[in-house]
Amino acid sequence: MREGKAPGFGRPFGRRSFLKGSAVAAAAVGAGSFSVGCAPKQGKGSSDEPQAQSVEEAVYPGICRGGCGGGCQMNVHVREGKIVKTSRREQSHADSTRLCNRGLTHALRVYDENRLKHPMKRVGERGEGKWEQISWDEAVTTITDKWKEVAEKHGPGANAFLKGSGNITPDAHHGLLLRSLMGATLLDPAQDRALYVAGPAAAGYSKYFCGSALEDVYNTKNLLIWGINPTESLSTIAHYILRAQQEHGTKLIVIDPTFTITASKADMFVPIHPGTDGALAFGMMSVLVSENLVDEAFLASDTVAPLLVKDEDGTYLRLSDLGKAEAGTKEDLFAVAAPDGSFGSVAEIAAPLIRGSFDVEGIAVTTSYDLLLERVAEWTPESASEVCDVPVETIKELAHIMVDGPSAVAPGLGLDHYTNGVATYASIFAMTMMAGQVGKPGTGFKGGSLLKALLVGCRTLLLIPRMLPKAICSILPLF
Ligand code: SF4
Repeated sequence: MREGKAPGFGRPFGRRSFLKGSAVAAAAVGAGSFSVGCAPKQGKGSSDEPQAQSVEEAVYPGICRGGCGGGCQMNVHVREGKIVKTSRREQSHADSTRLCNRGLTHALRVYDENRLKHPMKRVGERGEGKWEQISWDEAVTTITDKWKEVAEKHGPGANAFLKGSGNITPDAHHGLLLRSLMGATLLDPAQDRALYVAGPAAAGYSKYFCGSALEDVYNTKNLLIWGINPTESLSTIAHYILRAQQEHGTKLIVIDPTFTITASKADMFVPIHPGTDGALAFGMMSVLVSENLVDEAFLASDTVAPLLVKDEDGTYLRLSDLGKAEAGTKEDLFAVAAPDGSFGSVAEIAAPLIRGSFDVEGIAVTTSYDLLLERVAEWTPESASEVCDVPVETIKELAHIMVDGPSAVAPGLGLDHYTNGVATYASIFAMTMMAGQVGKPGTGFKGGSLLKALLVGCRTLLLIPRMLPKAICSILPLF
């Protein structure tokens, strides 16, 4: 047999290699049935074929960097210094012992002949396609010398790191550590990573690691899967969602411009004009307000709705503004209004007002919730429908579904792909909290590792006075 090149492995490929490769492939799909040193059985008529020899195999723990952000743990099987396969790694929790096809095919990508394996330096004009291979030392020195030059000239903050969703697994955290050590700037764009910007601002989570377990979705009655197709893009959570539907009766509502595989499993599919999800959220908020469905008690106790915003500059009123605390100290808490007409800190007033404008010792202020309502008042289900192409009756039905909880939202990175994605996410978060669907079992924001953070354990805040309504407003010309 002629020797050739095995696709993706970049080395001679003959019949014997094929037999060994077949064993690897069989083991890869055999989900844990792989035997170390096991040669493939010879079939009828193959007695003249050489026997594949046993080789030692080492198994290392690894983590999938498939880009979905799930971070599934896996076994990395190495023979003769080469990765021959990856397999799922047993976790303490059976539902976490998963690996999708991307995770199972890592070896192909590691050895793909088109993979960039060395630092390359452009030697021609931009676009000419002329590159030369350089050493790692030269690459590191070239980059760090440039960083030093910029920092000396303009200060450390003049260097900036730009993260993207294609690199949200552990590598990205090393990059963040480096950025911190350098004192460089972190750019979190409103596109692609908008969810990571809006999420912390809306729910106060610490990036990726807090919140309740994914199994909480089994307590969810209605799950709005909004701009995400987990059966293909986030397999880590897809089985939780489908199990919730099949075994716990969770109603799946998919909001997506495309009839995805996830949509094909949905109890209700809501097609939407791409990039107009913020309008739908505002249409739903309009219904909540006009039909008195807003959970005002929740807004008062668990969100920033009662915080007072200074008309003058749009910042929160603090005790230091009233001469009751020193600015910048931990005693300098936000101020709220009490029903008896007094003003005090959020720690002092248990049931603050969420509506109203006041004059507090000469400072004109308005509650955060009133500022949001000003923006909600600009919308009706009808005007939202004109923008997002979702029928008025469906917008009303979605609002009613939200308050018939426990309801939750699974927002995905699909909404990141449009300008001002941050504002879109913020409007969805605000709508969910107005419906009172945060902070209780089965409610909140469901997702993969990146959204575990937003689950039931985080009940910090929600509405971003001034910034949110203005940001939402700013996307209107784009519709
Ligand atoms: S679900 Fe995501 S993290 Fe897990 S194996 Fe697939 S691509 Fe990798």
